[in-house]
Amino acid sequence: MIPFNKPYVSGSELANIRQAVEYGWLAGNGRFTKACEGFLEERYGVARAMLTHSATAALEMMAILLDLKAGDEVIVPSFTFITTANAFALLGAKIVFADSLPGHPNMDTEGVEELITPRTRALVAMHYAGDICDMPALECLCRERGIVLLEDAAMAIESSLEGQKAGSFGDMAVFSFHETKNIISGEGGALLINREKWIERAEIIREKGSNRAAFFRGECDKYSWVDLGSSFLPSELQAAYLFAQLEAMDEIQAMRKAIWTRYHEGFSGLAAKGYPERPVSLPGREINYHSYYLICRSLEERSRLISFLHEHGIQAVFHYQSLDQSPFGVKFGQGAAPLPHAARYSDRLLRLPFYNALSREEQDHVIASVCAFYDEA
Ligand SMILES: *Cc1c(COP(=O)(O)O)cnc(C)c1O
Repeated sequence: MIPFNKPYVSGSELANIRQAVEYGWLAGNGRFTKACEGFLEERYGVARAMLTHSATAALEMMAILLDLKAGDEVIVPSFTFITTANAFALLGAKIVFADSLPGHPNMDTEGVEELITPRTRALVAMHYAGDICDMPALECLCRERGIVLLEDAAMAIESSLEGQKAGSFGDMAVFSFHETKNIISGEGGALLINREKWIERAEIIREKGSNRAAFFRGECDKYSWVDLGSSFLPSELQAAYLFAQLEAMDEIQAMRKAIWTRYHEGFSGLAAKGYPERPVSLPGREINYHSYYLICRSLEERSRLISFLHEHGIQAVFHYQSLDQSPFGVKFGQGAAPLPHAARYSDRLLRLPFYNALSREEQDHVIASVCAFYDEA
């Protein structure tokens, strides 16, 4: 069976973990955590990068930093991962769902404007499959209306728009290092902060509401409970694994680019027929080759294709189910009708096996099998 995902080891992960053990510091915020954070700050030009144990944790830190309370509204795409919304709903914020573009899974920037009310506090842009949202337009809109702009760049590390990297557009952003992402540590994430005013408080929030980080730097003589917070730090073992991956980033990205390109070229014949659709990259974007997906003509066709591939030893998977139609999402009720474009991607988008160690033979088998399905159809 060709699985959908296989976690990758670039080379020095185990040696790094051994070193962390030998240093005798396994909790968070040690040498490897600092090394990873320094790497991210330098590469993405952000004021502060803080490792967390997941992108979800980093999203929750954002919500705490914004002092969200019941009645505040946060705009999020409907076609996204659950925690893009859940992190803000946890603090009682009302979630307002934005639809996708007609021709791309990303949020429809123009449609977002009419969702803004006097209670809108923040807008979360999620870059699907590494295709960056229209950040210049969202920045203008948010600045004009006094709204905080956040990026869920969980799957967009290394993507860029006109040369500017994901994570550096919003007031804050998150990355994920979950094992299904480009750069991994099993579970893992980072909060990127582009506004100095939030940095000190973010350290407190990550350290269970205490000023422990400042205490260890000798900036205060005891450490106490000073604010709200929780336990958001990853351990040094995760950071040790992650640091090896960050150092191998260029090599990893080159492997992923080759896989993405082979799929894209492999499906050019099908695309000429008009279906299934291949991913369309928005102008000015450099994607990060996070995943390869196809858009089927119907939910029924996608289900048949998934079964067909399964019979041929290939695990292909669908992706997000629109949050506006989810059992919990309907509670925020913008009306009974599903957001049409988000619904289209929920029903028809199919992701193919995509991992760094995917061999050419395996990939050719996937391509041939998809083509055979459409030839028979
Ligand atoms: C993977 C992902 C998340 C969650 O990341 P974790 O690190 O697993 O919490 C959130 N949002 C998006 C868009 C994702 O792709």
